[in-house]
Amino acid sequence: MSAIHRARQEGKTMYVAFVDITNAFPSVNKDALWVKLHSWGVGGPLLDLLRMLYDFSPGLFNVFFADFHVPSHVDDIVLFGRAISQLEHADDLALFSTSLKGLQTKVDAFLQWCSCNFLLPNARKSECMIFGPVPYVKQYKYVGITFQLTHHYIFAKHYKLKASAARGIAGAALQTQSMTGSLPPFEGCQLYMARVDPHLTAGCDVVLDIDPTLLALLEDVQHAYIRRILGLNPHSVIAILFTETGLSPLCYHRVVLALQYLSYLISLPSRHLARCALDDSVILHKSACNTALQEFINTSSRTILLHNHLSRGADGALEQRVLAFRGYLCVVVPQHRTALTHLLLSDHTLASEQLRRASCYVPVVSEHLRICHLCLLDVEDPVHALLTCSGGVSQLVSLWASFLKDLFECLPSACTIAIGNDATDFLRLLTKRRQVLPLLAKFAWEVMVIFDALPMVIPRQTE
Ligand SMILES: [Zn+2]
Repeated sequence: MSAIHRARQEGKTMYVAFVDITNAFPSVNKDALWVKLHSWGVGGPLLDLLRMLYDFSPGLFNVFFADFHVPSHVDDIVLFGRAISQLEHADDLALFSTSLKGLQTKVDAFLQWCSCNFLLPNARKSECMIFGPVPYVKQYKYVGITFQLTHHYIFAKHYKLKASAARGIAGAALQTQSMTGSLPPFEGCQLYMARVDPHLTAGCDVVLDIDPTLLALLEDVQHAYIRRILGLNPHSVIAILFTETGLSPLCYHRVVLALQYLSYLISLPSRHLARCALDDSVILHKSACNTALQEFINTSSRTILLHNHLSRGADGALEQRVLAFRGYLCVVVPQHRTALTHLLLSDHTLASEQLRRASCYVPVVSEHLRICHLCLLDVEDPVHALLTCSGGVSQLVSLWASFLKDLFECLPSACTIAIGNDATDFLRLLTKRRQVLPLLAKFAWEVMVIFDALPMVIPRQTE
């Protein structure tokens, strides 16, 4: 800890390697230990006694380690005047330095010592930690494209640098007029394509235009240049800059070049690295889309019956399928299918949905006040209407009894499912059973007819 604190105090980063030795105690060559002790002057009866009494122990391991010396390095931590770069406790070893190079010299020395002492470091159990700020560069230019860490779009700096370079070149091209006289528009366009356009389109095949403000930096240079060679003021119509010169608007020009590169990538064989990168990007974006959709579904109270989107796969097991044609959409009777669809997709006439938004006649009502107009006991939502409403209407009770009877006949395991889950999960699971769906849809339609027959309760007090 002292070393870490010292490094932090000095604003340095501390690199620590925790090194593990394979099968440490049993691996120690005992003969090598006795030879070491003898060379340090331990001999005679004392050495014999040690050999008889001791099996290998952490204490003797410390003795075994005694001739391990780590060379000092300029990046070592200095504690109260003493450079320190390793900790040893029996076979637990930590090496550290304030630079990667310094740490590497320690690790090299340790490996050298191991090889001379019949020990093998365990790479799988050895780990490194970094304490303090991780040194990194905030931007780097690679193959003419600048990557930037401090902007939400990593190529933001590339746009700025290229706009600046293009502006400089455009200015220089126009400056020639001071020596050659007025630059005719035709030659001006040729100079643009030869000198300015390469900067404005540099890397556009991989640096895609996702940020209009960054693209505008480049477009401004193009517009200003063409206006100068045509002798137009900065407020002239933009479209005529292209219709009268034959040059392409930069945003289209860049997209066309990017599409041409895409068509080249698609033409590559599937094992080509660039093609692999493209295919992987497609998969990645598809899964990102699915994740975003499912996250929305899972966090919305309006889609509570669709949470997790479990569907039965070919083997009958439940699996999460974000994009799939759902079984309830195959119910044959149109009114039944529509009633169930409305309930599942939260587009129904129950209070939970109808009082959610204001209309000419109905104000917005807080969620907990959207009370069932039949029983006045709970929030009126699809789960309540279908499964938990105690009614007050005899038709609902007889409907419920008849539905349960048919359900248990159709799906004998429904009773087990009902016991193990709450009402919402039970309803959710029923929608996954294809054989139950016509029954459930019919029941949903019949229930909604009863609910729709009586006027909704609109509370006076709103919050
Ligand atoms: Zn109710």
